[in-house]
Amino acid sequence: MAGTVSKVAKNILAAFLGLVVSSCATLSEMRAGHEYEYDTLIINGKIIDGTGNPWYYADIAIKNDEIVKIGEVKDAAAGKTIDASGLYVTPGFIDAHSHAASGLAKPELSDAKPLLLQGITTVFVNPDGGGAIDLEKQRRELIEDGLGVNVAQMIPHGLIRRKVVGMEDRAPAVDEMKEMKRLVRKGMQSGAFGLSSGPFYAPGSYATTDELVELARQAAEYDGAYASHIRDESNYSIGLEAAVDEVIQVAREAKLPAVITHIKALGPPVWGLSESIVANVEKARAGGVEIFADQYPYMASATGLISALVPRWAEEGGHDELVERMENPKLLPKIRSQMKENLARRGGADRIQFRYYDPDSTIEGRTLKEVAAARNSSPLEMAVALIKEGSPGIVSFNMKKEDVHRFMRQRWMMTSSDGGLTALGQGVPHPRNYGTFPRKIRKYVVEKEVIDLPSAIRSMTTLPAQVFGITNRGQIREGTKADIAIFDLEQLTDKATFQQPHQFSEGMEYVLINGELAVEADKLTSERAGRVLRHTD
Ligand SMILES: [Zn+2]
Repeated sequence: MAGTVSKVAKNILAAFLGLVVSSCATLSEMRAGHEYEYDTLIINGKIIDGTGNPWYYADIAIKNDEIVKIGEVKDAAAGKTIDASGLYVTPGFIDAHSHAASGLAKPELSDAKPLLLQGITTVFVNPDGGGAIDLEKQRRELIEDGLGVNVAQMIPHGLIRRKVVGMEDRAPAVDEMKEMKRLVRKGMQSGAFGLSSGPFYAPGSYATTDELVELARQAAEYDGAYASHIRDESNYSIGLEAAVDEVIQVAREAKLPAVITHIKALGPPVWGLSESIVANVEKARAGGVEIFADQYPYMASATGLISALVPRWAEEGGHDELVERMENPKLLPKIRSQMKENLARRGGADRIQFRYYDPDSTIEGRTLKEVAAARNSSPLEMAVALIKEGSPGIVSFNMKKEDVHRFMRQRWMMTSSDGGLTALGQGVPHPRNYGTFPRKIRKYVVEKEVIDLPSAIRSMTTLPAQVFGITNRGQIREGTKADIAIFDLEQLTDKATFQQPHQFSEGMEYVLINGELAVEADKLTSERAGRVLRHTD
């Protein structure tokens, strides 16, 4: 009964046995009682345990969903033995910021293939203050068709605010604040690992720092963390440095670990500020504030064209109101001039590439500059016209190498994808959906030597586990859950590019999740052994 037998087959077999031999033990009892001492052995591998320590040789024995022994177990009887000679054996990767939840809830994407082939075994969902508020409902949707990876939920501020206060730019009334606090607490009681916020986006942007502190306090009572897409990653409003300071303030006042999520210096006006930001974070840490960050290894981000270019006041009320304002000759010039400034912040129209656009998919994969030129329009007029008809998703090439490298070297830097799951071939998404984790290792460990391999692995495993409070995963250690990635360093690579993103990563030889083999010989098995984790467990 090797790990390749699917869950469904096991269930059918169990039901069958139960029917015809009612006195017989259930299948799991039979498995537990069979002659094998262990279910799976991983032998001869170079173990990188996730702590940042260098690799060492040892064998790993797995029983049920746990690593039960590390050491010399080669001769023990096991249901399956993986010879990891020449391969690295590390904890399964934890994606600190993922938009994959909606994809994972769809039957056709729930196997999480693009994630597992990167070695990802756990994703943190509901980031940036968005996603889902009813976490129990989301949990049911996630597990309904089986789940390829483990999911850890955050409770999102922006969505809570939208539900309670709407899209209005105002402070919450006393009873509204009470209701928002209740919803954060309810989320934490449902198993969330913390509060996520996105004060860059409407309606999260309408919240004051005090509101965020007060809501983060609710999460802190349940030992949760706070992760924020900061108010300004550029110089849109309060500026990048002040936006980082806001997260530090929330961490200090609400007394919880806080994460500057997908940290970056966005656009030419703020390039180089990584130096002062790192200094500020170090200073806060020296002063006893628990502050961390996560980052994806690309020079481009992805967002919506509206969020990137349109001023927040023009968005108030939602898309219909925005279109109305754009059609109002009194307001359009003001909107346009602010959009012009924002386009300059992003580095110009040739640095914006469309990911998806429902009304007209022919623009996907092309830049705003190209689309405007092809239609004899200015980039600004083109942007207004596209926004009136829909909500274009974009990739935005806005980062500088030196900043990306400096951030990556920090001991408090986790790895995240910020990616989602899309159907194969659909749109031209950011390649991070398919390539983040192998890319960080290939490009920044092997090729550029920005960080060493144990540090990169640490940023993907023990560090996020520590920050968010997952105590039984993220490390190769006896007693932890058997989430394991096994790869060939020479073969490991991302294949997805900005022009052709729909390509799986390569070189991930085996991935185990909760003790079950999810990837074997670089290919997905039929296992869907992922779980929705609860912080309360
Ligand atoms: Zn974000």
